[in-house]
Amino acid sequence: MTTPASDTSTRLAEWQQAYTDLQSLGLKLDLTRGKPSAEQLDLSDALLALPGAGTVTDADGTDVRNYGGLDGLPQIRRIFAELLDVPVAQLLAGGNASLTLMHDTLAFAMLFGLPGSPRPWSREEKVRFVCPVPGYDRHFALCEAFGIEMVTVPMTADGPDAEAVAALVADDPSIKGMWVVPTYANPDGSVVSREVAERLVSMPAAAPDFRIMWDNAYAVHHLTDVETESAPALALAAEAGNPDRVLLYASTSKITFPGAGVAFLGASPANITWYKKHLAAQSIGPDKINQLRHAQFFGDAEGVRAHMRKHRDVIAPKFEAVDTILRERLGTSSGASWTAPLGGYFVSLDVVPGTAARVVQLAKEAGIALTPAGATFPYGKDPHDANIRLAPTLPPLDEVRVAIDGVATCVLLAAAEKAAA
Ligand code: PLP
Repeated sequence: MTTPASDTSTRLAEWQQAYTDLQSLGLKLDLTRGKPSAEQLDLSDALLALPGAGTVTDADGTDVRNYGGLDGLPQIRRIFAELLDVPVAQLLAGGNASLTLMHDTLAFAMLFGLPGSPRPWSREEKVRFVCPVPGYDRHFALCEAFGIEMVTVPMTADGPDAEAVAALVADDPSIKGMWVVPTYANPDGSVVSREVAERLVSMPAAAPDFRIMWDNAYAVHHLTDVETESAPALALAAEAGNPDRVLLYASTSKITFPGAGVAFLGASPANITWYKKHLAAQSIGPDKINQLRHAQFFGDAEGVRAHMRKHRDVIAPKFEAVDTILRERLGTSSGASWTAPLGGYFVSLDVVPGTAARVVQLAKEAGIALTPAGATFPYGKDPHDANIRLAPTLPPLDEVRVAIDGVATCVLLAAAEKAAA
């Protein structure tokens, strides 16, 4: 059924008026990046007083002030080994950013090759990665930085479309890797099912050094009582006879302080030995004082889980507000759809194809900063110009409400403009 022209122009006029009203509020709100709010950061302030004057050794008697301990402190590795389902011996603890570990993995692969590589990746004619979309912009930025070509596959409710990945990887040896955010993916919140994980770790790959960059940034970041466990990727890969396929990354960025946390790399013994060989040229050891203060702060894995429930209390109402307002304002007839994640940091909003960039522009001109349209796709180009990532954690709840209501107005106006064009 087509909409009569008069209805279309009435609707356009209606949303233009709503938008003028929105602009007159003089807002200055920011939903761009997935940062913890000040209230969340406050939850970890006890870290600032740890390990405390006079505490210079860890539970194993190591003087944390000195050089050494390339693997990171066992005390913090034990806690995260349990949470990430990785044997302690196969988990390294490093500095504050898992992105650094991902970057260095790619840099080492380019310069030296990985276990199983016929040659360094930089000597290959072409290196390509499978990128499930929508995905995390910084994964794509890393690929761009290293000249790695990106090939997209769609996300499903159970993670990347495993059959599409398997078809690509089976006979193209230039495909050396793929990105996966297994739990509460950035931005769509999906969780990789055990079946998808099994398929990805066992599918035949033409490249002998094919790797899955298993970025479990949100492993413990639940928004409800359903505390979904991540598929045990390293164990599954070993069982499938591909022990070296998975490189697991995580950090405490959104558990304690993003600027001063601890990052982790989990992998097979061969990959860990390889990584440490190259790491040893770069550093004599990580910041063990910070690792000790984190271990003291949490106590054990249950301490991390309990701490994350406090985060949940702060941010779950913001996610609920996003869903409630989008339902009220966009309903089912606006052509928009969005995710209601059970964890993580983002809501993925799909608007009428061809209007995402316009929505972001309208929002900007009304004082609401959104992640640029296209950011969730390689090279910043969403072929359908439809996806927008919403990050509701940083602003206070009342600001989230105002911002999402404003975004809804922009979505409706952009759709009405398109219909009238
Ligand atoms: N991985 C994903 C999927 C993320 O969403 C983020 C931050 O938004 C990061 C990694 C960054 O992690 P880190 O702070 O440990 O570098």
